[in-house]
Amino acid sequence: MTKPILSIDIGGTHLRFASIDDSGHILKKETYAHATLSRDDFFKDLDQKINQWISAHTCRAVAMALPIVMDEKMGVVYDAPNLPFLRGQNIYQRFSSLKVPWVLENDANCAALGEAWLGHGKEIDSFCFLTLGTGVGGGLILNRKLWKGVRGMACEIGHIKIDFSNQFPCSCGDYGCLEAFASSSALQKRTGITSKDLYEKAKKEDPEALALFKEMGKKLGRGIASVSNLLNIECFILGGRLSGAFPYFYPSAIDMAKHSSMKGPAEHLEILQSQLGDDAGMLGAAYRYLIL
Ligand SMILES: [Zn+2]
Repeated sequence: MTKPILSIDIGGTHLRFASIDDSGHILKKETYAHATLSRDDFFKDLDQKINQWISAHTCRAVAMALPIVMDEKMGVVYDAPNLPFLRGQNIYQRFSSLKVPWVLENDANCAALGEAWLGHGKEIDSFCFLTLGTGVGGGLILNRKLWKGVRGMACEIGHIKIDFSNQFPCSCGDYGCLEAFASSSALQKRTGITSKDLYEKAKKEDPEALALFKEMGKKLGRGIASVSNLLNIECFILGGRLSGAFPYFYPSAIDMAKHSSMKGPAEHLEILQSQLGDDAGMLGAAYRYLIL
């Protein structure tokens, strides 16, 4: 039997490990809180966990999804809002001591690949995957292939501009980005409560919470329309924690997306909710290794 792949989703607060076989079955998975966020200890802890897991579960390779913007040619991390100590690091050197083959990829790209492999993307050749979480990430699949741009930094959809009032700061340092409206951090900043609590309120039909999700949907729809006009892709698939509130923002998102798109691209425009949940990134990282 072919040995599985150790797939790791490295997030801002947790590490998620899984053994995944070549058909996409998750054989075992575990979640660990970060033991430390000091740079050297972080890598020491990660190395240790990887080596232990590989020995215990006889994995043949390691595939990692990371929340970073990286120059793929050089391996240098440009930005890592959720793990800022990675900025400026040569990430390839950091993993050079691993004793099995390994790959790493931006986490939103991994989620898009996971969706292409095992989700809605099985039936759709070209789509854009949006991760709605603390920030807004994106992965673009064109004709069944991940589009990465010249140096692996394509599809930063969270930072397309949808507001020009200079009133809504974004984590990137600019104003008016999609992320400043359609992320859990943006909602929390605006309301003072977590997006999870906001979701619970919406479930109880709280008018304020429903209005906030409606407004968020409009902004999301505007961003989606810009990408739709540019690429004329078939579908936008939404994942990440905040996508759980899909029923509350979908109606205004699809209305605005169709309204703001050119008539042609608008006609077949679809917005779907990912069905892979939290596993999309880990599955996509494994797939990234398999299609090397
Ligand atoms: Zn931004």
